Amino acid sequence: LNAIVIVGAGQAGFQTAASLRQDGFAGSITLVGDEAGMPYQRPPLSKAYLLGKTDAPGLLFRPEKFFADHRIDLVNSAATALDRTNRRVSLADGNALPYDHLVLATGAHNRSLPVPGAELDGVFGLKNLGDADALATRLGEIENVVVIGAGFIGLEFAAVARANGKNVHVVELADRPMARAVSKEMAEFFADAHRDWGVMLDFGQGLSRIDGERGRVTAVELTNGRRLPADLVVFGIGVLPNAQLACEAGLDIENGIKVDSYLLTSDPAISAIGDCAMFPSQHAGSFIRLESVQNAADQGRAVAARLVGKGAPYAAVPWFWTDQGDLKLQMVGLSAGHDATVRLGDPATRSFSILLFHRGRLIAVESVNRPGDFMAARKILSSRATPRWEEAASDGFDLRAWEA
Ligand code: FAD
Repeated sequence: LNAIVIVGAGQAGFQTAASLRQDGFAGSITLVGDEAGMPYQRPPLSKAYLLGKTDAPGLLFRPEKFFADHRIDLVNSAATALDRTNRRVSLADGNALPYDHLVLATGAHNRSLPVPGAELDGVFGLKNLGDADALATRLGEIENVVVIGAGFIGLEFAAVARANGKNVHVVELADRPMARAVSKEMAEFFADAHRDWGVMLDFGQGLSRIDGERGRVTAVELTNGRRLPADLVVFGIGVLPNAQLACEAGLDIENGIKVDSYLLTSDPAISAIGDCAMFPSQHAGSFIRLESVQNAADQGRAVAARLVGKGAPYAAVPWFWTDQGDLKLQMVGLSAGHDATVRLGDPATRSFSILLFHRGRLIAVESVNRPGDFMAARKILSSRATPRWEEAASDGFDLRAWEA
């Protein structure tokens, strides 16, 4: 292979480029990104960056010099079409890039709010640096915030807005926060924590419309008819994979660009990784699409290794974190389908873990302010041996001691 082109200069794309050089790839690497500037990390956008604890240079994966030193050509343009027969990518700037192997790392875009008024000024999604900057400015000027969707990003933003002294109201269709991702017990702990901070939470409620005056948002109306004053509406109701380029090129698409266990698409000259890819997960036992730094970075590393001849089926253990107020929640494994739990530690101390089991076997661990448990759980879930429920439920069980 001589020329590798990576489309998407986010977490997965950047990692692929960096790992290729680290693994000794000597050919050309072109990283194509449609955002302005240097590649940056998204997680702080809804946390440290909005709290003013980190600035824009602090978000960059690496300074500009890294790209020159490692001969990674960064092209700030959008890929607009793939010519698979001649192995070329067309760009919005009019150029076309030839490739021997192409990596699609195009990420995902926010699902939009399907209600009247969604276009009003003051209604924000949070995906990129531009969104965060606009949001930070607006947050300084307003009082009443309504957050639509109690997922990770919605709750992180709610905690930030509350810390800034705003009136914050979160509206969620499900009966609890983070319902698809964490156990009921953990969800309820976080709901209580937000209430303690003074965040108002409305579950089992949808949004029916957003009202405005002179083009600017003033209130929202819920499906039960209740009206909430709002001068800022932030929505986080899920994302959809950026699969259009792949779809138009005739690659297999389902919930994302479909890849095999080596992260290859239906065209062996094209890989797909990160938020845009649907892959066969050993941990889920099915095809899934994950939206996390871990998944994007590990898949980038896996593709780089394969491209230098050290390929192996992708098998990394999924993990994730979220920061809300003084709480850091770290999760490892996939919680879906758990049928029993064990709690280690006391939630009242704000430091505890919940172990999730399926038919007696440990499948996931959720830790709040207990990084030691999280680290131990990552090792345990990467190995074959895991504690059984009976053992974990017995007095004095310690995850760190078990792992050691
Ligand atoms: P991205 O990082 O989104 O990168 C994709 C890039 O491709 C984008 O820059 C996009 O503009 C570009 N692109 C798309 N189409 C084209 C095209 N045709 N041509 C050129 N470029 C294109 N994960 C965690 O694990 N923990 C967290 O705490 C966490 N917090 C988050 C907070 C926020 C506000 C957001 C938005 C995400 C957060 N995530 C978190 C998720 C994590 O950031 C993503 O899962 C990760 O960035 C996915 O990496 P990716 O490379 O697949 O996609």
